[in-house]
Amino acid sequence: MSRISYVNGRYLPHRDALVHVEDRGFQFADAVYEVFAIRRGGLVDEALHLARLARSLVELRIAPPMGEAALKLVLREVVRRNRVANGTLYLQVSRGAAPRDFVFPKAARPTLVVTVRPQRRQDPRLLEEGVGVITIPDIRWGRPDIKTVGLLPNALGKQQARDTGAFEAWQVDRDGRVTEGTSTNAWIVTADGEVVTRQADHSILNGVTRYGLLQLLGGEGLRLAERPFSVAEAKAAREAFLTSTTNFVLPVVSIDGAPVANGHPGTLTLRLRALYDAYVAAQVAAP
Ligand code: PMP
Repeated sequence: MSRISYVNGRYLPHRDALVHVEDRGFQFADAVYEVFAIRRGGLVDEALHLARLARSLVELRIAPPMGEAALKLVLREVVRRNRVANGTLYLQVSRGAAPRDFVFPKAARPTLVVTVRPQRRQDPRLLEEGVGVITIPDIRWGRPDIKTVGLLPNALGKQQARDTGAFEAWQVDRDGRVTEGTSTNAWIVTADGEVVTRQADHSILNGVTRYGLLQLLGGEGLRLAERPFSVAEAKAAREAFLTSTTNFVLPVVSIDGAPVANGHPGTLTLRLRALYDAYVAAQVAAP
């Protein structure tokens, strides 16, 4: 079955889904995006992703390409046409195509692209064995809270991780504190059982998975702190894990090659993963 993608009002065979060479997304990374998990044909946490998209657009003064109700119909239609039950939906909105000039164009219409792809089941070993991370300097611009397509530092960091056999790179600010992964949020459980993740200010992307998990944690009566933690604190942690739309919750068992605690996935981490899986399943359960 052929893959169908949406570009500016048209549902096209994926190979024909193209944007203009002078699109500002291509020329300047003048664009934002969202990534949704698809489970049982439904979008997980759709409202949270759409709210974050709206915020990113406002921050960059890009006009919404269409109203939210119409956008939801487009998202559903792309999922339907691709017959994807479990997968990932990507959505990009750029400021549009216009003659090259840093100054915002007066007349350009925003470009909207929506693509989906099926996702194989997550390799169970990632959960059973956990993953390794390396630490790298955070060289991104000052507003990683805006979900822009300017992802070069993230791509370089992820590649560096994979080149060294690690799954992810945790980016570190000038004060030696972890901001987040290249495509995931970073968490630790301290020796005295406090669950820590960095506060959602301008220094990190406020992950939808992070947000969902924080709500679940509250209900579990766990001790939570939204604050920065240092690399040294992470290395001394009882447990560590990462969260994202495509990975949900994954245990981190080594940092820069040194094991976290005994080097096995933490029990609290696995409990949180189970809680998160149940939260997702409940959202997309057949009525
Ligand atoms: N941080 C960064 C830099 C990311 O790119 C992502 C993935 N979009 C995340 C965190 C995780 O966010 P979410 O849970 O919304 O996927």
